[in-house]
Formats: sequence, C-alpha cells, structure tokens
Amino acid sequence: MLESELKIIEQEVRNCTKCPLHRSRTNIVFGDGNPNAKIFLIGEGPGFEEDKTGNVFVGKSGKLLDKILEACNFSRSKHVYIGNIVKCRPPENRKPETVEQAACLPYLEKQIELINPKIIITLGATALQGLLGENLKITRERGNWKLWMNRLVMPTFHPSALLRNPNLKKDTWEDFKKVITKYRELVNSEHFCKHF
Ligand code: SF4
Repeated sequence: MLESELKIIEQEVRNCTKCPLHRSRTNIVFGDGNPNAKIFLIGEGPGFEEDKTGNVFVGKSGKLLDKILEACNFSRSKHVYIGNIVKCRPPENRKPETVEQAACLPYLEKQIELINPKIIITLGATALQGLLGENLKITRERGNWKLWMNRLVMPTFHPSALLRNPNLKKDTWEDFKKVITKYRELVNSEHFCKHF
C-alpha cells in the first residue's frame, strides 16, 4: 500500500514539467531506501551521476554518506529513506533556484507524509533552507534540533562539503551522535553503535 502510493507520486514526478529543470534531466531522482524507515535524509538535488542513473546519492558524496551511516550502524536499505529538495538535476550542479525548490517541494512533502519518519536530517544549506526557511545559515543551525510540521529535524552538513573541507567531519559526527541518541529514545532503545 505504502509502496504503491509512493509509486503513484514517482509516476507524477516522471511526467513533471512544473519547473525548467525538467528540460535538462536525463532521469528523475525520486528517492530511495526503506519506506518504513524512521529516518528521512534530505539532500539538495541530483548531481551528474544521479541524473545518469536515476539513483539517489551515488558518486563520491554518496559513498561518504554510506560511511557516515555505517559508522552510526544505520543502513540505507533498512534504517533510512533518502530524498532531495529537487528531483531533477540543475545544470552544471548549480544550486536549485527558489522557484524550482518551491515547485518541487510538494513531492517531498508527500513522501515524508507517507513514510512518516520520526527524524528528518537535512544535508547542507539548500536542504535546510528549502525545508525550514531561506534565511537560515547551516553554520549556525547545524546540530540543533528543529521542528517542521511537528517532526524533528537535525540540520547537518552535506557530504560534498565534507569532501571539500574535512575539518567539518568532527561537527558532522557530533550531529549524527545526537541523531543516534534520539533514535534510541524514539525508535529503538537497543540500537547498537560501536563508536557511540
Ligand atoms: S525539479 Fe521537481 S518540479 Fe522541477 S521539473 Fe523536476 S520534478 Fe518537476
């Protein structure tokens, strides 16, 4: 039922021409993971590899994200679902425009509503601003729990920022430790993590 409802939205996205990004896409990147997951990760939008394959968070950033999740003892297939603020790749990997984000956000909102996660993690400034407000600064807001539609949101850095600046890894790990603590509180008190 849940999966078929997600498929219906995915089909809508496949046919979507609501913003100019549809013109240059090769594939939409709808999102992936466990539809019953309690953690929903939000990135910015598809990059080159994602556009080519239709898969979310592949390439270098995706590999780093996998490592972070693994360090938390979360797996993509079991513990999380991953989506993006926009479903089509912005040309040259530019930041999606505000109007593009606004056009695409209802799809993400529907995904979140259906998946019904306990915890949302925004990865990077665009995901934070796209969900919670344009004026928010990632450097100020990261690591602090926020509320969006009565759901808990943890803003943290995007893996691509960590690739550019490895000094951000320490703060990112602190943010994910807060997520692990919350996950134990809300979902599974016995969630094991050998690092924390
Ligand atoms: S980015 Fe979103 S709103 Fe824009 S065309 Fe793609 S699916 Fe539609």
